[in-house]
Amino acid sequence: MNSPDPLTGMRLRLSELVLDNSFARLPPAHYTRMQATPLPEPYLVCASESAAALIALDSEEFKQPQFTEIFSGNARLPGSMPLSAVYSGHQFGVWAGQLGDGRAILLGEATSPLEAQGSIELQLKGAGATPYSRMGDGRAVLRSSIREFLCSEAMAALGIPTSRALCVIGSDKRVMRETPETTAVVTRMSQSFVRFGSFEHWFHQDRKEELKTLADYVIAHSYPDLQDASDPYHALLSEVTRRTAVLVAHWQAVGFMHGVLNTDNMSILGQTLDYGPFGFMESYDPAHICNHTDQQGRYAYRMQPRICEWNCFALGQAMLPLIDDVDAVYDALSVFKIAYAEKMSALWNAKLGLHVNEAHDVALTEKLLEIMAASRVDFPVFFRRLSGLKQEDPSGDAPLRDLFIDRSAFDAWSVEYRQRLRMEQSQDEARRQAMNRVNPKYVLRNYLAQAAIDKAQQKDFSEVQRLLDILQHPFDEQEENAAYAALPPDWAAGIEVSCSS
Ligand code: AMP
Ligand code: MG
Repeated sequence: MNSPDPLTGMRLRLSELVLDNSFARLPPAHYTRMQATPLPEPYLVCASESAAALIALDSEEFKQPQFTEIFSGNARLPGSMPLSAVYSGHQFGVWAGQLGDGRAILLGEATSPLEAQGSIELQLKGAGATPYSRMGDGRAVLRSSIREFLCSEAMAALGIPTSRALCVIGSDKRVMRETPETTAVVTRMSQSFVRFGSFEHWFHQDRKEELKTLADYVIAHSYPDLQDASDPYHALLSEVTRRTAVLVAHWQAVGFMHGVLNTDNMSILGQTLDYGPFGFMESYDPAHICNHTDQQGRYAYRMQPRICEWNCFALGQAMLPLIDDVDAVYDALSVFKIAYAEKMSALWNAKLGLHVNEAHDVALTEKLLEIMAASRVDFPVFFRRLSGLKQEDPSGDAPLRDLFIDRSAFDAWSVEYRQRLRMEQSQDEARRQAMNRVNPKYVLRNYLAQAAIDKAQQKDFSEVQRLLDILQHPFDEQEENAAYAALPPDWAAGIEVSCSS
């Protein structure tokens, strides 16, 4: 493995990138060694410089034909040991048995120049059928690949734990979805792609040996600090639960809806994983369902925290044979409610520009969300504008109150808010700056992604690149891009995203 020097900022050529694959050292029951299916006439759609920096890869290399060949799955990096991993899971609350990897191939891991990051796995999504594909074709369409690519990078820039995306490689090869669509491959990056469903896979087959091997691997590879805990399995469950609670608090605070919170889409690292029919909250509605396929609203915005907790319980059940004590499992899972409440209140307070926590703050936030829901106020626009509120001068409130159908509801809330600001002697300018560091101006609204996809389907990738550039600095004003922060156009309401990708 190469070890780039973080101090010299050394950048690797593609030819210098050498992989290892620690997952491939697990017993073969955990995966199938296999090659990607070649992708005919691949072309680069877009690549992320900041993702490449995670493995010290020089972005100049994006232009090399070999880059496209490697990340379409047509050529191999030295040391790569491509494999497809096995996992199962609960879909929409129902045990579904073995699910994947239906279309992802793990190439191996590169060394990060940042010591704290350790190694980073490279995975091709949409690289062809695997032994675990069930009925699927193993491919991903350009539309969903661009969405995953842009959102992974946008979430990272928002400071939310997530898998990353190095690039999208397209091809004119078509596959059938609702209509025929062209295919693409996304290269994802994460320290690990192990899911809750990877554990459930062995639990539901009553194979304790494999379950233990997997848990030991995850602890050694991704949670080395837990090796010294009195019960490392309990410590693992507790830490994954804590991270998951923190993650979903981040989602709620930024208005991100995952769309398919099945247990196979839950990362063992507590990061956002598997971008499908996700959405960002626009007109605020806590019952909003972003996934057209989710008719019951199991994964609606307001359901996400309890669904994530439910998923942790599914992981807890799967780990029961290792922890061997139901009370200890419950004890580890009890971390969820505490961690979620703590993180959520800290994030709401930061969004409101409040420094100290007061008992009444939860009620102040709840009241705000209630009046926002009644007026279907645009979520990112409201919080961004709120930073401009003057504590002692309501005369400039129009940009805020005009977002409400019931303006008097905002006026009443703003009286309470101003009182609360006075209580901690808030300073307008300092608060404005602090709020603008946590309330993004730019989020990946569905219509923005759709506009970039429409152009990309005509082989014009400029809008994908432009969105990537904008979303990598979501908190900056970027005056020249203000149109990308505006309220969505009327046609945006008609966009539907579903599981089909
Ligand atoms: P998802 O809900 O998107 O995570 O998908 C559930 C499972 O179906 C995953 O394990 C995927 O690997 C698999 N899958 C999704 N799409 C395809 C496809 N086109 N071909 C094969 N497997 C797929
Ligand atoms: Mg998935």
